[in-house]
Amino acid sequence: MASERPLPLGSTIGILGGGQLGRMLALAAARLGFRTHIYCPDPQSPAFDVTPHTTVAAYDDEQALRVLASEVDVVTYEFENVPARTAELLAQLKPLRPGANALAISQDRLEEKSFIAGLGIPVAPHRPIHAVTDLAPALSSLGTSAILKTTRLGYDGKGQRHVATLAEAEAAFAALAPHPFVLEALVPFIREISVVIARGQDGATAAFDPAENVHRDGILATSTVPASIAPATAALAQAHAATIAAALNYVGVLGVEFFVLADGSLLINEIAPRVHNSGHWTEAVCVTDQFEQHIRAVAGWPLGDPTRLADVVMENLIGDAIAAIPAALGPGIRPHAYGKAESRPGRLDGVYRLEARLLAQQI
Ligand code: AMP
Repeated sequence: MASERPLPLGSTIGILGGGQLGRMLALAAARLGFRTHIYCPDPQSPAFDVTPHTTVAAYDDEQALRVLASEVDVVTYEFENVPARTAELLAQLKPLRPGANALAISQDRLEEKSFIAGLGIPVAPHRPIHAVTDLAPALSSLGTSAILKTTRLGYDGKGQRHVATLAEAEAAFAALAPHPFVLEALVPFIREISVVIARGQDGATAAFDPAENVHRDGILATSTVPASIAPATAALAQAHAATIAAALNYVGVLGVEFFVLADGSLLINEIAPRVHNSGHWTEAVCVTDQFEQHIRAVAGWPLGDPTRLADVVMENLIGDAIAAIPAALGPGIRPHAYGKAESRPGRLDGVYRLEARLLAQQI
């Protein structure tokens, strides 16, 4: 379903998922004059703190989904593992933005890679692994430094393992779930970057500057902008992100993660059909941040200006590091609490605070 009219002030945006991204989206929506209704099975959801309109129900609870659809003007989501049936049902009842196709592609690493490669954009060399007997030929063609990944439901480095021998690959095959898998060659990248891009209902796009990302234990630790890459590499990454958004007929904010090779060439690691962890810095230093862009896009409003006004480092604080707040708040440091109820160290969904440290004077 598509509605061409921009949503009027006071309309209600339904958000599937009640984590920190849903919370940040709800805050941006409120600033623009919208209400939000957050739908999440977890009664402790951080996003419930910032809106009175909430539903606690399972993602396959058709009756609760129908009630949600009756109470909102448009539906969006803050995580990519929305079940296909849920997306289908909601899309029949209200505009779902981004659409179900973006979810289907990003939920499956093999489909995602074929889709991106089909657009002429390079991805890591890989082979599908449906049976344990697929491992030996795949390892011999990719080389023995490889990563075995589940095709579905992997996140933050979960559901994947480095393998250097056939025996290790077979052990990983037995230990990881769910099947099937993809075996990827280990990419000798010199850095990882991401581009967060917004695409409006009119097809206009606005990409933020690429961020340079450092992961620790599979979790995003820092995003630094500008990334130390050549201007041509930055422009190419933004162009690839725009190509993907257009091919999906995408509406909303999309995150695209890249590996940068020594010669400056790029491979896409994965895409996320939502606001992105590596785009939180946009709140501190851009004319329009990623959360406002997403709300504008799903509401059918014109996109804002993504111009960056200062250099920035975004640092995610996990576990004990959170104790440093508020004492460590020096000049130029902007905290953003994710509002998690409990700490589970080493987990992205533990107590997890964000710090944006501006390295230059904000204009
Ligand atoms: P992913 O869950 O696929 O985003 O992987 C998490 C992290 O593992 C990435 O951000 C990389 O640091 C690393 N990684 C994943 N795939 C590869 C690969 N094919 N080669 C090298 N490093 C990888």
